[in-house]
Amino acid sequence: MIHPFISGNKWRKLKYTLENARNQGKDHLITFGGAYSNHLVATACAAAKFGFRSTGFVRGEQVSNPSLMLCKLFGMELHFISRERYRGKQEVYNSFFGKLSNTYFIDEGGASNEAVEGCAELVRELSQPFDHIFCAAGTGTTAAGILKGIYEFSPGTALHMVPVLKNGAFIKDEVSRYVAATNLHLHTDYHFGGYARTTPELLNFISKFAARTGILLDQVYTGKMAFAAYQLISENAFAEGSKILLVHTGGLLGLMSQAEKILPTEFLVDPPASQ
Ligand SMILES: *Cc1c(COP(=O)(O)O)cnc(C)c1O
Repeated sequence: MIHPFISGNKWRKLKYTLENARNQGKDHLITFGGAYSNHLVATACAAAKFGFRSTGFVRGEQVSNPSLMLCKLFGMELHFISRERYRGKQEVYNSFFGKLSNTYFIDEGGASNEAVEGCAELVRELSQPFDHIFCAAGTGTTAAGILKGIYEFSPGTALHMVPVLKNGAFIKDEVSRYVAATNLHLHTDYHFGGYARTTPELLNFISKFAARTGILLDQVYTGKMAFAAYQLISENAFAEGSKILLVHTGGLLGLMSQAEKILPTEFLVDPPASQ
């Protein structure tokens, strides 16, 4: 709801980063991401909107898809680099831009202290207290920010983080780099095969959810988070009457790659109960 392309958490993660870049007199943002990265699209759009140039380094072989098309439309210059070179992001940045003084390095996914600050504001904006907050995690920066906001503005709230990649327990350590992880609960069993992997069960859940609520989820992040929350609720993991907030972090572009796999909703709606 914040912005169609600088979606959800990406706006919050970029807010103080761009402010910092501007205060330092930088006018060219350099960042990194996979070929379907919501962060690349968000950075490209934010750069265009707020008067920066932008360059994106894309992991892997050259491809084209709707996300990268949007990056180009928003004026981002794209460079495809091998997975091996991508691992040394800082060296890549230095070899291309190390001698320039007007460029600003933004890490993959926008991870930074500024991003944590921006995400913490989400909790301050809540109009009522919640017992539980759910969010999806890639780098864990958004979760770290929400947790920071919880300690500051809503200390009784528990954060439930759903890593979207396999073996996601390490994300707890990523969160701990920014903030103590005491109110943090980790749900590592909802990756559906790994990052950007999906299953018919997950797509089915996303379809039903959209048909019943008018709210779209994506299969990379918010679908897995919502699936986890609904599953836990159905297992009575929370006391009756608990107030539970699911944070929709945006990122709906990913769903567009699934066009052929989404079934017509008439097959998904439960049959009416017999008389
Ligand atoms: C990037 C992204 C995330 C992950 O955020 P992190 O701060 O990297 O954990 C979650 N949801 C959506 C929709 C995203 O685009």
